[in-house]
Amino acid sequence: MIKGRCRCGATQYIVDLPWPPLTYACHCTLCQRATGSAFAHQYPVPEKAFQVTGKLVEAEVTEPDGLSSVHRHCASCLTRLFGTSLKTARCNRSSCPSSEHLAQLAA
Ligand SMILES: [Zn+2]
Ligand SMILES: [Zn+2]
Repeated sequence: MIKGRCRCGATQYIVDLPWPPLTYACHCTLCQRATGSAFAHQYPVPEKAFQVTGKLVEAEVTEPDGLSSVHRHCASCLTRLFGTSLKTARCNRSSCPSSEHLAQLAA
């Protein structure tokens, strides 16, 4: 079980997957722009394994290939928590930095 939350704590999520999940660092230019760094550290989550509480705001972005992705943020502090791409329907990509296991990821 993986727990995570936004910076202010108003939005929280639970992922029904064992720790550690399979993570990846995407270096595409879209992830670079979204994070302001060289990559976005994420892990795929089946939709049915993901539960979120709290108010979210969504931003739908059309990518260069014409497909769209939806980015979801805490409505209070705007921390980016997860997103869904039409390329990977039924699968969220959760942002590793929002995980409560962040210190373990950095180790
Ligand atoms: Zn928040
Ligand atoms: Zn990317």
